[in-house]
Formats: sequence, C-alpha cells, structure tokens
Amino acid sequence: MTARSEKYTAQTLLDVQPITENLFTLRTTRDAGFRFRAGQFARLGVTKADGSTVWRAYSMVSSPFDEFLEFFSIVVPGGEFTSELSRLQVGDTLLVERQAFGYLTLDRFVDGRDLWLLSTGTGVAPFLSILQDFEVWEKFERIILVYSVRQARELAYVSLIEQLRERDYLAEQVHKLQFIPTVTREQYPGALNGRITTLIENGELERAAGVALTPEHSRVMLCGNPQMIDETRALLKLREMRLSLTRKPGQVAVENYW
Ligand code: FAD
Repeated sequence: MTARSEKYTAQTLLDVQPITENLFTLRTTRDAGFRFRAGQFARLGVTKADGSTVWRAYSMVSSPFDEFLEFFSIVVPGGEFTSELSRLQVGDTLLVERQAFGYLTLDRFVDGRDLWLLSTGTGVAPFLSILQDFEVWEKFERIILVYSVRQARELAYVSLIEQLRERDYLAEQVHKLQFIPTVTREQYPGALNGRITTLIENGELERAAGVALTPEHSRVMLCGNPQMIDETRALLKLREMRLSLTRKPGQVAVENYW
C-alpha cells in the first residue's frame, strides 16, 4: 500500500436519491476503522476521467453508529466536484479520507439548556447526524432545528426528522425537539416564511420556538451559507452571544460551507 492510499479508503455507493434537479442524497459503505463525532465532516474524493482526483469536505448525515455513511449534496452548475459526484451510480467508488474533521460538535459547549441548530440548505446535514446520536438528547432540555430553504420541495430528510419520534431509544426524549422549517421564496403551510436573520430580527423565530435566544440558556450551531452565518453571528453578538472557543467557552459554533 502506498503512503497516499493509506490516507483514504475506497467505499462503494449503495444508494443515490435525487431530491430536486440540484440536490441529492448518497449512501456508501463505511470502513470499519472510520470514526467520527456527530457533526463532523469527511473529505470525499472522486476520480475524474483524466485520472485526477478532486476532494471536497462533506458533513456526515448518518450517525456515528450507522454501518453506512450518508451525505446530502448540492449540484453546483459547472462545479468541479459536484459535476463528478452527481454522475456516480450505485456500485461506483467514492474515496473517503480515513480521518474525520470539524468542530461543529457538542463538545463545543460546556453548558446550556436550549440547543438551536440553524441551517440553510445542505447545511442541515451535520444536525441530522447530531439528532441521531443520543448525546444531544441527554445534554439539552430543548432542541430547536431550523432548516431554511428557498422552495419547500428542497426540504430533504423531513421524513427522517419525523421518524425520530418513532425511534424507541428516543421515546422519552423526542418531545424536546422542535422542527421549524423556513421557506424563503414561497409560502408553505407549516413553515415560516423568510430568511433566518429576518426571523431573528423580527422575533418570529423565537415566537415559533416558544423560547427566547439568551446567552444564559441558548447554545447555537450555525451551518451552511457563509452570509447567513456572518449575519446571524452579528445578530447574536448584539445579544452577548459569542463563538465558543476551547479556552473561552461561548454560545455559538459554526461551519461555513464555502
Ligand atoms: P465549488 O467550486 O467547491 O463551489 C462553487 C460554489 O458553489 C461556491 O463558491 C458556493 O457559492 C457554491 N456552493 C458550494 N457548496 C454549496 C452548498 N453545499 N450549497 C450551496 N451552494 C454551495 N456541500 C454539500 O453539498 N453537502 C455537505 O454536506 C457539505 N459539507 C461541507 C462541509 C464543510 C466543512 C465544507 C467546508 C464544505 C461542505 N460542503 C458541502 C461544500 C462542498 O465541500 C463543496 O463546496 C461542494 O460540493 C461544491 O463543490 P464543487 O467543486 O462542485 O464547487
């Protein structure tokens, strides 16, 4: 084995599901030695026709205990990686670096009562992993999942979120979850209408959650669009909520997707 191939393993695609023309989910086999914390990401590689390999970061959707790996992907028109990834079919190979990365994990927070998970688009991925892991349910009294998309048909994994309520091991915990989908470009029954930042500014998000965003009780994870993350961080800063650092625990943890 060469030093290069020791850095990653080759996994097989088990399933590919289109959500819209620009969104799809994929499931692969998992190397027995691949370990990760819920919320972390893997570096995935696809080999192009010219033999070169392109690598990109992808958050795991699946839980650390699943035997497979699941990912949720955008298709960027002309994107170097996603043009290749979206061509893969069941049985094809996806390369996965052996080491998982990332700090969007629950050990960012030393305390807190309410966990707010604020995502745009595919940024919901790490939160789905966190919600499928038991730790979050023990650590927090309330969990508010906010999932913002432009159009309602982009809301993937709603059935997974709903099915959490049916998982035996969560039976006594799942009442803690509040799922708040938000759709920005159309009205949709059961969803808020507007960007996350607008909904924080006008108080609608807290009203829908039935709880306030406060530095005492709230811990906030942000994932997805960097503009949403920057603007939300600025709004939270006005409320004395800051990035949580190893040496200086705070209330906010983030993962920018680009
Ligand atoms: P790139 O050249 O990498 O990107 C081109 C442009 O496309 C970007 O500048 C941006 O404007 C836009 N873009 C990139 N990613 C997204 C996205 N996810 N949603 C909307 N617009 C986007 N992507 C996923 O689809 N799912 C994931 O779970 C995921 N996890 C990530 C985790 C981390 C830590 C990071 C840093 C990125 C993650 N990404 C994820 C983004 C991913 O790494 C690639 O950027 C994406 O696959 C596009 O690759 P590309 O080569 O086709 O286009």
